[in-house]
Amino acid sequence: MIVAIDGPAGAGKSTVARAAAQALGFTYLDTGAMYRCVALARLRDSESDPATLEIVLAGNVMLGGEDVSDEIRSPAVTELASEVAAESQVRAAMAARQQQMLASGDWVAEGRDIGTVIAPHAELKIFLTADPAERARRRAEQTGRPVSDVLAEQQERDRRDGERDLSPLLAAADAVQLDTTTLSADDVIAEIVQLAARRSDGDSQ
Ligand code: C5P
Repeated sequence: MIVAIDGPAGAGKSTVARAAAQALGFTYLDTGAMYRCVALARLRDSESDPATLEIVLAGNVMLGGEDVSDEIRSPAVTELASEVAAESQVRAAMAARQQQMLASGDWVAEGRDIGTVIAPHAELKIFLTADPAERARRRAEQTGRPVSDVLAEQQERDRRDGERDLSPLLAAADAVQLDTTTLSADDVIAEIVQLAARRSDGDSQ
């Protein structure tokens, strides 16, 4: 079974997807971490080839054998990730790996295009949203950076992710839309786990 969780930055995808995967006994796939690895490799070497990068997601994020879990969360990598994610070669290389992983087993996969492009056959698709100001507030709290800086960068990232030609951020027509602005993470996790349990019982509603 595949649970696809898409949505903009700061909507709560990572927290919710990781916890839902744990509750369901599924494997968690953070596709954003893969684009972040491509961006980090590009920052270090402008000639780096996304197709040959060795990216391993196993709790920690490993790039070429090095633990880059913290480094891929830096503002510079965050900014560049949404730029490299618009390149066709990068998307093709990451999509192939993601689809290969999702071909067997049970997954909670989060990103921007899981329900629309990577796994359009996913049994459950969730589109998480929240007010931009609330999303920025959450990110600022996590990172200790000023809300105004986070909000400005987030607006730029939302624009790039939403307006790009290839796999723009979009809710699948059959996605369940959840606005997390006033919900606690626990409420959202419980809702997703319940929806997944119902879908696995064969209820298509
Ligand atoms: O989710 P996260 O913020 O870690 O993603 C970093 C960047 O990777 C996003 O801004 C987006 O541009 C890109 N991304 C993507 N498709 C995905 C996941 C992430 O384009 N499935």
